[in-house]
Amino acid sequence: MVTTHNLGFPRIGRKRELKFALEKYWKKTISEKTLLEATASLRSQHWQDQMMLDWIPVGDFSLYDQVLDTSFMLGNIPVRVSELPGSELDHYFRVARGRAATDDSAGTSVSAGEMTKWFDTNYHYIVPEFDQHTRFSLHSDSLLQQINNAQEQAIQAKPVILGPVTYLWLGKCKDDSDKLDLLDDLISMYAQLFEALEKSGIKWVQIDEPVLVTELDEVWKHALRKTYYQLQATPIDLLLTTYFGQLQDNLQLACELPVSGLHVDAIMAKDEIAKIIDWLPNNKILSLGVINGRNIWKTDLTETLNWLEPIHANLQDRLWLAPSCSLLHVPVDLDSEQQLDLEIKSWMAFALQKLNEVAVLAKALNHGRNSVAEILQENRTAIESRSQSNRVHQAAVKQRVLEITPAMGSRQSPYPQRVIEQREKIQLPFFPTTTIGSFPQTKEIRQARMDLRTKKLSEKDYRLAMQKEIETCVREQETLGLDVLVHGEAERNDMVEYFGEQLAGFTFTQFGWVQSYGSRCVKPPIIFGDVSHTHAITTEWTVYAQSLTDRPMKGMLTGPVTMLNWSFVRDDQPRAETCLQLALAVRDEVTALEKAGIGIIQIDEAALREGLPLRKSQWNIYLDWAIRAFRIAANGVKNSTQIHTHMCYSEFNDIIEAIAQMDADVITIETSRSDMELLDAFDEFHYPNEIGPGVYDIHSPNIPSVDSIIHLMKKAAQRIPAQRLWVNPDCGLKTRNWDEVKPALQNMIAASKYLSSNL
Ligand code: GLN
Ligand code: ZN
Repeated sequence: MVTTHNLGFPRIGRKRELKFALEKYWKKTISEKTLLEATASLRSQHWQDQMMLDWIPVGDFSLYDQVLDTSFMLGNIPVRVSELPGSELDHYFRVARGRAATDDSAGTSVSAGEMTKWFDTNYHYIVPEFDQHTRFSLHSDSLLQQINNAQEQAIQAKPVILGPVTYLWLGKCKDDSDKLDLLDDLISMYAQLFEALEKSGIKWVQIDEPVLVTELDEVWKHALRKTYYQLQATPIDLLLTTYFGQLQDNLQLACELPVSGLHVDAIMAKDEIAKIIDWLPNNKILSLGVINGRNIWKTDLTETLNWLEPIHANLQDRLWLAPSCSLLHVPVDLDSEQQLDLEIKSWMAFALQKLNEVAVLAKALNHGRNSVAEILQENRTAIESRSQSNRVHQAAVKQRVLEITPAMGSRQSPYPQRVIEQREKIQLPFFPTTTIGSFPQTKEIRQARMDLRTKKLSEKDYRLAMQKEIETCVREQETLGLDVLVHGEAERNDMVEYFGEQLAGFTFTQFGWVQSYGSRCVKPPIIFGDVSHTHAITTEWTVYAQSLTDRPMKGMLTGPVTMLNWSFVRDDQPRAETCLQLALAVRDEVTALEKAGIGIIQIDEAALREGLPLRKSQWNIYLDWAIRAFRIAANGVKNSTQIHTHMCYSEFNDIIEAIAQMDADVITIETSRSDMELLDAFDEFHYPNEIGPGVYDIHSPNIPSVDSIIHLMKKAAQRIPAQRLWVNPDCGLKTRNWDEVKPALQNMIAASKYLSSNL
């Protein structure tokens, strides 16, 4: 018999119940008790939702983040927090957010733990902190309590635990000690934990070691060996769990570690499964993650069964089935969607639907395909309809991609020639000032958008309202004295959704929320079909903005790579192919802007870095097609048209060559918090084009002083020739209010004036 299980369930809730409960608690409108009741009932609901499975994950739920939970379970709480008064929950939220719900504005707030991306997903975890004084102690009450609750509800609980090696690997040493020195202590905590779990009647534990899909040096491989050999005597069965990629040179190690079973992502590592079966000792179970936990598409069940049946014949009871990874990365329930086009909806599956797919596959293997004949037939119909639908497949779009020429990826002349023509056409002072695009999204702006959606405001009145916002924004920028203006992005809800809504090939959900961090969720657009540009999107707004001023107006677009990386994408063609389609669509918008008289166009690639593969050895494959896509999007313009790009992060060292290949005339980046040191990468590489290193952090309400900006720009000028420097904030200003924006920009402009007159 095949056994089914799940690696993790989305915890945010069908209607984001967790988010709303948390936010109420933080605002102190509900008590701790009410919060904990709400989360307990969400957990129960989610267990009931998974009853079609043999083993149900417990411990995957979290009030904020599962890595932070692990830190608390291991007693690894930063001293700056543990020495404060308050409850455990206060401590927890202080590490998560810098403050507890009980904290008053004065005194108790501390710096939150650092947050960073969970492998190659859009989920962010709180980085564990270590130093030479770190000692662990086991605090498993909360987990044991959850297990107890689950058992009371007749749930076959399989606790989900982050493995000790991945836990260390994810963390950061705050001093120069070596985090691997902590391994022995950590292993003994896990040994104690397993004993406690056994006493609670637990048989299987899922122990996540996703580091196994990354490039590991000998030291880390040794850490894995040491850990699992030492834990070998544990009385419970460990399911060593990997996901998000192939095992590659860790394959043999993963197969040999002395545990009871291995879970592999059979979507990403499908080609390795035969080898794994070959290597895996025959007392171990093999769990195959055959349902994609990273997308929202139905699985082709027949095809999967064709592949699985011989594997099942070989492994028999040793075969387990699951989604490829935790379902944290997909929305909860497709049935919540009331507005999706029915045909497109019939191709999709969210978490609940994916778990049903797991159950159907298991039933087909256990009792023959006939036992699920009807479901298989329905599935085949959906799969065929998607593969043939002319909503998905547009011959003209595919043809256009085929016809892309090398010339389309290049500007007419290299930068040294372009800059002459641009400086002739766009007269700018030294240290020109600009912003990254958005200005405050005020209550009025959001209300107008809402009223348009609910039809309280007509299309025409909405336009007028937005034009008024644009006018205000332009006037403010003129008064401030910025050199290159923007229209302010009032009409945009989100930098990807806004464009997706107007391009063919995208669709949107009502409740397709995915947790990004804590209570924050994103609702990624869905790219279901060939993408094309059917009408000009931004020209009307930009031209209107330009008509209000003599100063140059910068057009503002989102780049193809960012649109791709922030959407759910198709699984029926390579990402690179979808990206090229997006590139052509953006190119059409770029040329439309140029034709409408806009001489400066910014193409944001905020998420370029996020798409980097987990293994460095594969970076170049990604960068090659991603940079090519950007170039196709950007390079359909004349020499005199100035292309800007923007990236809001501060790590460029390892991708500087690719950044240079983008060949944007101007790149604006986030630098203020790194004291311009990241410009070293640009300096060493002799980055040839213009750079606008951000001079203040827009995430903070603090107003930067003139001196601080001058100081930063002088540092920048030590690395980049002054005539190639721009002055701008780190990122867009939409989350700030005007009272913060005005004085900040005033100081920025004063600094630029000082710099250019003291050159
Ligand atoms: N143009 C966008 C803005 O200013 C860029 C946002 C981003 O980089 N995340 O809001
Ligand atoms: Zn940014």
